[in-house]
Amino acid sequence: MAGLGTYSLGTGDRFGKEGKAQLMAVLKARESGVEVTPVWNKSHREHKTVGSKPHFVKDEADAAVKSLNYSGKYFVDADHINLNIIDEYLPVSNFFTIDVADYIGKSATGKEKDEFLKFIAKFQKEVNIPGVSNKFEISETALNKILNTFLFAANKASKVYKYINKNKSEEFVLEISMDEVENPQTPVALFFVLAAFAFYEIPVNTIAPKFTGRFNKGIDYEGDLDKFAKEFEEDLLVLDFVKKEFGLPRNLKLSIHSGSDKFSIYPIMNRLIKKHKAGLHLKTAGTTWLEEINVIAEIGEDGFEFALSIYEKALVRFDELTSPYPEVLDIDISKLPKVIELKNAGRAKMSKALRHNLEEKDYNPHFRQLMHCAYKVAAESEDFVRLLDKYRKPIEEAVTNNLYQKHIKLVFQ
Ligand SMILES: [Zn+2]
Repeated sequence: MAGLGTYSLGTGDRFGKEGKAQLMAVLKARESGVEVTPVWNKSHREHKTVGSKPHFVKDEADAAVKSLNYSGKYFVDADHINLNIIDEYLPVSNFFTIDVADYIGKSATGKEKDEFLKFIAKFQKEVNIPGVSNKFEISETALNKILNTFLFAANKASKVYKYINKNKSEEFVLEISMDEVENPQTPVALFFVLAAFAFYEIPVNTIAPKFTGRFNKGIDYEGDLDKFAKEFEEDLLVLDFVKKEFGLPRNLKLSIHSGSDKFSIYPIMNRLIKKHKAGLHLKTAGTTWLEEINVIAEIGEDGFEFALSIYEKALVRFDELTSPYPEVLDIDISKLPKVIELKNAGRAKMSKALRHNLEEKDYNPHFRQLMHCAYKVAAESEDFVRLLDKYRKPIEEAVTNNLYQKHIKLVFQ
């Protein structure tokens, strides 16, 4: 399988301008002794929203690599794809994230269930994972529930994988995502999900489960840190175990979606991946757009007026902008600032409300989440493109700095 490396960073870039600045962050990491493979990811949903084409992402990545003389692997991730939309992505991607969320909870046929049960015969009552202090005991009902939730989805994923494999001659990375669902997957569920991938012979390289707690867009993790640490560590041990038990790819690792800005769990992930010598893929996208709009809002009156107008429109179009992300937003409308308040407070204050600085008393996570979704509004404006160019240098600095200082350093270093 293609070498994604132990650590990799998904650097989505909504407007396709920051490829170089993002790659700079990877080069800074390299200078400090940490190899992180860059992956430019963009979902079909984002392409639709900003009106870009799948090949734009590859063009951007290639250009960034060329201009910085980057020597190393890099990938272009067709993020959250399925069979209906895959064709456009095949020639321009070498990383595919198959989203099975829509198939979770649909039931496989009785015959497939029986065959799968034979495949996992020795794990039907309990699963004993080395390193996990309590063995996972499983009742028949619980196992049935897991099968009814995931087996059909695994079957679907295998169809997408086979299609990619048939139509793609060069090597590619295969990710399967289950993050955009209502309920988190427990480590024991993850075990059976991965067993199902092995059963259908899917050589998965990265798996994006839904973890306990909230992974809201662009803001910190919300949830019980000890519970997260326990689950994350057990997931790592499950991955290790299934590689040996079912012969899944040696480089199989976890992928964290909505991975940006999760400052309170980065030290936990860092400690545990080092402890278990595990790999990790961290997927980000919106955090780069937030840097763009933050610099624009902060640096000049024209940018401030523009950011205010984006926010004003986002308030009016609240439902349209937020409805695609029910599982990853937590916006309390009553805590959103009024446009007139922001206007009167001025640009320094607005920037304080928007910038993700947990020590800043004016920081407002509700405002930040809505602005995260407001890229759709910015995409409709020609002014935005003009401002992105006008303030190019400070924007690039902010993008690099955000990915390196606030993400790579904390997670991987
Ligand atoms: Zn995702």
